[in-house]
Amino acid sequence: MSEQTPQRSAYDAIVVGAGPNGLAAGITLARAGLSVLVLEGSETPGGGARSAELTLPGFIHDPCAAVHPFGKASPFFRSLPLAEHGLKWIQPEVPLAHPLDGGQAVLVERDFEAMVTALGTDGAAYRRALSFWIEHWEELFADLVGPLPLPPRHPFAIARVALQSFLPAEILARGLFRNASTQVLFAGMAGHSMLPLNRPLTGAFGLMLSMLSHVIGWPIVEGGTQGLTNALVSYYRSLGGELVTGCWVRSLAELPDARVVLFDTPPRTVLSIAGDWLPEGYRRQLGRFRYGQGVFKIDYALDGPIPWENPGCTRTATLHLSGSLEELAVSEKAVWSGRHPERPYVLLSQPTVWDPTRAPQGKHTAWAYCHTPAGSTVDMTGAIEAQIERFAPGFRQRILVRHTRNSLEMEAYNPNYVQGDINSGVQDLFQFFTRPTFSLTPYRMARKGLYFCGSSTPPGGGVHGMCGYYAAQTVLKDFERLPKSLHMKNN
Ligand SMILES: Cc1cc2nc3c(=O)[nH]c(=O)nc-3n(C[C@H](O)[C@H](O)[C@H](O)COP(=O)(O)OP(=O)(O)OC[C@H]3O[C@@H](n4cnc5c(N)ncnc54)[C@H](O)[C@@H]3O)c2cc1C
Repeated sequence: MSEQTPQRSAYDAIVVGAGPNGLAAGITLARAGLSVLVLEGSETPGGGARSAELTLPGFIHDPCAAVHPFGKASPFFRSLPLAEHGLKWIQPEVPLAHPLDGGQAVLVERDFEAMVTALGTDGAAYRRALSFWIEHWEELFADLVGPLPLPPRHPFAIARVALQSFLPAEILARGLFRNASTQVLFAGMAGHSMLPLNRPLTGAFGLMLSMLSHVIGWPIVEGGTQGLTNALVSYYRSLGGELVTGCWVRSLAELPDARVVLFDTPPRTVLSIAGDWLPEGYRRQLGRFRYGQGVFKIDYALDGPIPWENPGCTRTATLHLSGSLEELAVSEKAVWSGRHPERPYVLLSQPTVWDPTRAPQGKHTAWAYCHTPAGSTVDMTGAIEAQIERFAPGFRQRILVRHTRNSLEMEAYNPNYVQGDINSGVQDLFQFFTRPTFSLTPYRMARKGLYFCGSSTPPGGGVHGMCGYYAAQTVLKDFERLPKSLHMKNN
């Protein structure tokens, strides 16, 4: 049943925003027996985890997240009965491909030993770099998506990889691998950091995503990412949780009474909704929170599959497009300095090769984006399509319709993406430990009863729900000591 107005006048907890983290917080609190209301501004729940017919009837697109190594690995999602609520992961044969000039491509084999063999002269170096990660992946992943800045739960495992992880990806790729193809493969993984590859910690993104390729895969969701959200919503409702959509929260005074309010939003939104409730010093700290680069996103309806020059590229749903480590590093540095690269690093997904339910028979969809300076309104269609054509000549002839969003349009679609920043805050070394402020309990605001639960908190961006889960755990620790009401109407 879909409720369009809250059913009660008072709740234990209200969550603002039904992204994966808001829903994770709602589920955790409802599972603990609290009465919970999630309020979502958009008509559809899911935030960055939604699907829609953006181009033509019958073509289902993922406007934001499409590929889910984090979602499938998430310790929180794995603890939920999501398959019983309709979630079906699809694992492409190969987690990822990186096509290269001249019809070459490097494919990430799911099996670690097969990958070592496929990398030839770089195989031994790949094994040395990743075998500890593979053997200890659950401990390492649990800490990497842990509630920083608290000390790790597996200090020995983390200590073993710490030095390597802090290194910039550019140095790590060159230091570890001799072949240009392995170097650019690693750089493509690290490019998910949305930082220049000469920055500390970018190596950790490369290592973690490489590890997840082998231990989890890079799955997609049958029918589109909305399927994951629908399963979260269905489970949340089965616990008695309420969700109201089409309800933008603009002030705390509008809300029903509650003991706690959690925000699946960045500090900027919290300041506009609850700024008057917060001490001035804390408001200033939130005002200093830094947002990162934006994105330019294209969704395509296609007349046929993408005509990759290298046929191996059809063995995957996800590809990174960039000719070399140097090209990728230059492009990410340019974006960071406020420029639009001629040859951007493009992230591409071709879900319908693996999931025919998303398009009419014989037709396909594609999802592609590149990084841009924050707030950019520059049309990157030409640059993105030139990169796709470079590795798939004839691609343009397959396009039926394209739907684009620049960084500011991305923010209009979802206000959490401040100036197009899909991670709701830069994930550099400093802000890795200070999301959204420096605190041992970053989820708790400096006012009793108010909490952050979105990706501006640790562990940051991605569809994994861990921010919401840890925020809700903090609420549960505090709950008995909190006043019976926030008295929001009388502030
Ligand atoms: C183009 C693109 C590609 C991406 N690709 C991937 C990918 O492949 N894999 C991956 O793991 N991640 C990907 N991401 C990132 C991922 O989508 C986000 O990190 C994730 O959705 C963050 O979850 P969240 O719950 O913190 O916030 P969100 O998903 O942004 O949800 C926040 C929700 O709060 C609502 N809201 C905000 N303000 C208010 C208000 N005032 N009142 C009521 N509701 C409000 C919003 O409408 C939204 O529904 C991608 C993002 C983009 C944009």
